[in-house]
Amino acid sequence: MIAAVFPLDRWIAGRLGLGGAPLDRAAIEAWQMDCLRQTLDWARGRSAFYRRHLSSLDGAPPRSLADFAEYPFTTAADIQADPLQFLCLSQGDISRVVTLDTSGTTGLPKRIFFTGEDQEVTLGFFEHGLRQMAGPGDKVMILLPGDRPGGVGDLLSRAIRRLDATPVPVGISQDAKAVAELGARNAASLLIGIPVQVLAVARHWRAMGLPRDCLRRVLLCSDNISEAVCAEIAALLDCEIFRDWGMTEMGYGGGVDCIAHDGYHLQEADFLFEVVDPRSGRPLPPEALGEVVFTTLTRRGMPLIRYRTGDLARLVEDPCPCGSALRRLDRIETRKTGLVSLSGGDISMAALDDALFEIPGIADFSASLLREGRSPILRIEVFQRTRAEGRPGLDAMALQSAVMEALDSIPVMRRSSDVAIEVVLRPDMMPVSRGKRMIRLEEGT
Ligand SMILES: [Zn+2]
Repeated sequence: MIAAVFPLDRWIAGRLGLGGAPLDRAAIEAWQMDCLRQTLDWARGRSAFYRRHLSSLDGAPPRSLADFAEYPFTTAADIQADPLQFLCLSQGDISRVVTLDTSGTTGLPKRIFFTGEDQEVTLGFFEHGLRQMAGPGDKVMILLPGDRPGGVGDLLSRAIRRLDATPVPVGISQDAKAVAELGARNAASLLIGIPVQVLAVARHWRAMGLPRDCLRRVLLCSDNISEAVCAEIAALLDCEIFRDWGMTEMGYGGGVDCIAHDGYHLQEADFLFEVVDPRSGRPLPPEALGEVVFTTLTRRGMPLIRYRTGDLARLVEDPCPCGSALRRLDRIETRKTGLVSLSGGDISMAALDDALFEIPGIADFSASLLREGRSPILRIEVFQRTRAEGRPGLDAMALQSAVMEALDSIPVMRRSSDVAIEVVLRPDMMPVSRGKRMIRLEEGT
C-alpha cells in the first residue's frame, strides 16, 4: 500500500478550498460543474467563434454532464480556420502564442493563445507533478524544445526551480553522446524527454560506462510511449520511469502517472475530460476505448469547449493504489489522425514502435506507406545502433529478417497480405525529430 498523498491531489485540494481535507470525487465534480458554467458564459460572451458555435443552444447552463454531452465539439480545423475568433481577451493580454504546424490539407497553422494566468496553471501542474520525481538540490536535465519564455522547456525549468532543484535545459539535441556526458558531469538525477531521444542517450550513457548512481528517474513525454522503449531505458539506466501526457492545446499538462505507474492521473481541476466514440461522438462508459475530448475549465485567453484531441485511450474505472481521487487514462493507444488504413485494418506508428523497438539492433526507424500501382508498399527505414551505443552483433541479414518477423507479429500486418514490405537499413544516424512520430503517406503518380 502506498501511503503518501499524491502531490497533485494536495495541490488541487488546496485550490478547491478543502481546508486540509483530502480531495474526493464529489468536491472535484462540484468544482468542475461550477467552472464549466463560468467557462460557457465567458466563451459565449467574449469569443466570436463560440457566440456563433453555441448559438443553437438556448443559453441555459447545462444541468449535468449528460446535458453537456449535447454541446457541439470544437475541432483542430475550427482553430485553424481562424484562431483569433477564439480569443476572449484582447491580444495585449496574451503573453504567449504557440503556432503549430499541421499536417491537414488546408496547410493553415494552428495558433494557441495563453495569458500569464493560463500559463500559471501549467506551471502549477508541472511543479506538483514533478514533486514525486525531484526535490531540493536535484539536477534535472530537460531534453525538450521550448527554451523561449513560455515554451515547454522554459515552463519546466521554472517549475523545477520552485522545487529548489536545478534545471539543466538541453533542448532537442542531435548528439546523444554529448548529452549523456553532460548528464553524468552534472550528476543529473532526473531526465525529461521524448522516448526515442532518451533511449539514445541511455544507450550512450551505458556504453560509455558513465556513473549512474545519481540518476534515479526518467520522465517520458509523448503521445506514443512504447513499452519496449520504456523497458529498455529502465534496464539501461536502472531507474524508475514516469510518463506525462499533454498537448499544446492543453498548455501541455494533461496528466501524469504516480508511483504506482498505472495510467495518467488527469489534471481535473483545469480540464473536464470525456471519452467519446470517434465515429458517432457519443460518450462512452469507462474502460471503453475512444477519443479523448477536453474542455478547459479555468482558461481565460482561449477557452476550448469539447475539443477533440485525436488521441485514443480508455478512462480507468478502478481507484488507483496510490489513493488519488483523480481519474486515470490508461496508455494513449494512438493518435486517431495518425492511423493508416490497410486491407487488414488500421495501423498506427505506435503499433510499429511496440513491435520494432523490441529488436536490439534498432536505434530508430521511420515508416512510410506508398500507394502506387496495385499493391501498397510499407517502407521501413531502419537506423542501426552505432558501436558507440553498444551495437549488438546483428548483421544486416539478421536485422532485416528480425524486422520482417516483428512486422508479422502485428495482427493487422498479418491480415494485410497485399502490402509489400521494404526494409532499408541505414548506417547513418537518424536526425532527432521535433514532430510526432507518424507513418508518412506517399501517394504515387
Ligand atoms: Zn495513482
